[in-house]
Amino acid sequence: PKFVYAFAEANKDMKDLLGGKGANLGEMTRLGLPVPPGFTITTEACLAYLADRDFPAGLSDEVSEQLAALEKSMGKTLGDAADPLLVSVRSGAKFSMPGMMETVLNVGLNDESVHGLVSQSGDERFAFDSYRRLIQMFGKTVLGIDGEHFEDAIDEAKRVKGVTNDLDLDAEDLKQLVEVFKKVVLEHAGRPFPQPPREQMDLAVRAVFDSWNTPRAVIYRRQERIPSDLGTAVNIVAMVFGNLGMDSGTGVAFTRDPASGAQGIYGDYLQNAQGEDVVAGIRNTVPLRDLEQIDKRVYDELLRIMQTLEEHYRDLCDIEFTVERGKLWMLQTRVGKRTAAAAFRIATQLVDQGLIDMNEALNRVTGAQLAQLMFPRFDEKASGRRKIAQGMNASPGAAVGKVVFDSYTAVKWSRSGEKVILVRRETNPDDLNGMIAASGILTSRGGKTSHAAVVARGMGKTCVCGAEELDVNTKERVFRAPHGVTVHEGDVISIDGATGEVFLGEVPVVDSPVVRYFEGELDPEEAGDLVKAVHRVIGHADGVRRMAVRTNADTPEDALRARRFGAQGIGLCRTEHMFLGERRSLVEQLILADTDEERERQLGELLPLQRQDFVELLEAMDGLPVTIRLLDPPLHEFLPDITELSVRVAVAESRGEARENDLRLLQAVHKLHEQNPMLGLRGVRLGVVIPGLFQMQARAILEAAALRIRAGAVPRVEIMVPLVANVQEFETVKQDIIQVAREVREAESTHLEFLIGTMIELPRAALTADQIAEAAEFFSFGTNDLTQTTWGFSRDDVEAAFFSAYLERGIFGISPFESIDRDGVGELVRIAAEKGRAQRSGLKLGVCGEHGGDPDSVHFFNEVGLDYVSCSPFRVPVARLEAGRATL
Ligand code: PEP
Ligand code: MG
Repeated sequence: PKFVYAFAEANKDMKDLLGGKGANLGEMTRLGLPVPPGFTITTEACLAYLADRDFPAGLSDEVSEQLAALEKSMGKTLGDAADPLLVSVRSGAKFSMPGMMETVLNVGLNDESVHGLVSQSGDERFAFDSYRRLIQMFGKTVLGIDGEHFEDAIDEAKRVKGVTNDLDLDAEDLKQLVEVFKKVVLEHAGRPFPQPPREQMDLAVRAVFDSWNTPRAVIYRRQERIPSDLGTAVNIVAMVFGNLGMDSGTGVAFTRDPASGAQGIYGDYLQNAQGEDVVAGIRNTVPLRDLEQIDKRVYDELLRIMQTLEEHYRDLCDIEFTVERGKLWMLQTRVGKRTAAAAFRIATQLVDQGLIDMNEALNRVTGAQLAQLMFPRFDEKASGRRKIAQGMNASPGAAVGKVVFDSYTAVKWSRSGEKVILVRRETNPDDLNGMIAASGILTSRGGKTSHAAVVARGMGKTCVCGAEELDVNTKERVFRAPHGVTVHEGDVISIDGATGEVFLGEVPVVDSPVVRYFEGELDPEEAGDLVKAVHRVIGHADGVRRMAVRTNADTPEDALRARRFGAQGIGLCRTEHMFLGERRSLVEQLILADTDEERERQLGELLPLQRQDFVELLEAMDGLPVTIRLLDPPLHEFLPDITELSVRVAVAESRGEARENDLRLLQAVHKLHEQNPMLGLRGVRLGVVIPGLFQMQARAILEAAALRIRAGAVPRVEIMVPLVANVQEFETVKQDIIQVAREVREAESTHLEFLIGTMIELPRAALTADQIAEAAEFFSFGTNDLTQTTWGFSRDDVEAAFFSAYLERGIFGISPFESIDRDGVGELVRIAAEKGRAQRSGLKLGVCGEHGGDPDSVHFFNEVGLDYVSCSPFRVPVARLEAGRATL
């Protein structure tokens, strides 16, 4: 294979091979923009090197060839003693991994060529400063020397001279520093700093390759779900210098505001500096606008280039540039990262500018971004907001709660109904239970890839991390913030995971404008441009999507809200919620019934209550399909807790006051107690075992439908049987329901249409879907239980038990309960869909597990041909958007 490409041979679509930086440098070169000449070594060369710990055959020759061409075009030779060509050696993977990998600048300088640089630049200080930077960077990244040794040496030089600023070191000081640095290298690397320029370059290339596998890069990739087998490309670029005086400088720019999406001039500039000075924050940058005053010609050229790039890439671009003695050089560009709000705004702006069409606009936003825009947020207008610290926005959301400092207290307080914020210096796996119990997590240490940030994002929990101004004292149970603020355990704070802000006290929370729009409270034509953009994009998604979106809703309120959010029916009404609360005692009596008459009497009491539930639900969803699931959970869930009840009965007995009912209840609890209730008497099995139960529910549903028909409405009922494993058990229950339907039709003398279908939530059901489809009129995939039973993971226990270890060790990047496991659970869905449809063409297929609202999973369900996804009301807009994106 070809391992090395000149920039002129590359283009922006070669990211896999040349990394993002290399591909875009190539693209800019081809656009005729002022890019310093150079070439890119491919990711394939990197992978070969990582496999063999050596350069692949042919690589060195190709590099020599490209280097010769580079030298020719520059009219200089690498490291030449009189007039040296210097190069930078820069990493650049397919996906940007900011600051994760290595770069070495000024390669080609040595004891001789530094004098050539002095005479060429006419600036001795600059030349020796460049040389010491090379030794420092090379020592750190190539030779693995702790950077502190170099920094200590700089500090010592400044101390000796009695100055505090690096800039106060003159040429003589830097000459000496170079000698000190060389000693540091010899001492700590056990070898001298290499003088031959080509050796410097080859070693730097190896170091960049190796940096693909540094621990921080590995963790970052895991977090960002970047595959670990891509490798990095290496860019070798002729050096240009922004530190050659006040007519030089370096900067970054965005073609529009990445925070709001607004068009304008955004960026920073630093005179007489190199790129790393900007990052290091040694001196303050000025706003990019000021460049107009500093050098109008360069400024105008930059704006022209920015426009060229934006029109060429048809998107927001970010740019790094350098000015060397009044000449502008482009060092990097890429399609820039942006906030969720900016993504929607920019997408529609570009449509209005005629640069992209609506399909492309839809492609450029994500369901995750829309979900972010729907989080409630702190009221910016609230009076008395008292910000006490700024951390990093690790995981979005607005959380308010009492401060706790350990996991134990977090769990204890949250059990008693308190909202708590877990505050730690940093978290570790032992804090997991506390993190689960807390409404939000705040740490004073660690970045966006710290344990707290990673786990919080994985759980969808609000998190602010790395709030370094906070001094957290777990032992004393206080933390101290600047300006003498002390916060004790139990004090209330508010943390904003979207901005990283920490407030003292409770900051009121308001609905986001996007939610108010979905609620119908904001007219999109009159609302701000963000709402308008969301309205346009989601409208387009609705127009192109194939799958319908339904909701999981058990109450008329939820159903109505979901309908406002765009739901096209109910995909799952869980009826168990209708058996709780005041009705619990009725259910208890039903379970206790020991004669047929008694059972029928209790069922008879429940019937009108259930019927009324369904009347209201059908009313809320009139005209749209409503899937009602017959009772699913094991019955013990409706009875008192076994331990509590045992204690109560024992106490009563000791006083001679034991009540007959309690004793019977205790007996029942013992009888229904199961080792594995999730695999026990539940779902369709209840229908088979408990006479009359499913019939009562079916009767309530069908009588409700009849009532609605009589009221002139259009009920569209779908009765769903849960946890079916084989067709016979489904058939048994189905016959009972058909018998009930016959009776209701006769009694009400109406023509009642309805469907009877099943959930597919056990592997056996999926594998025998053809048999089940003979009897079932629709399937709804219960991917929660299907995941539980396919993996053998208890869905209620795994999060706390071992998922964090699995996530940390990269066994999976995301919980399979959150996003569909395509290879295992997904394969069962695919098989069941195919077998079901082959048996019964037109079989209606949907999904009602949590995955129905997960963006990645929605794409998968579209791919396997489901007719709809069903999700909680708040995720309906996300599912609409992603169902649209899935068709592009
Ligand atoms: C499922 O198992 O995916 C499902 C929707 O049912 P439940 O979550 O109620 O078990
Ligand atoms: Mg289930």
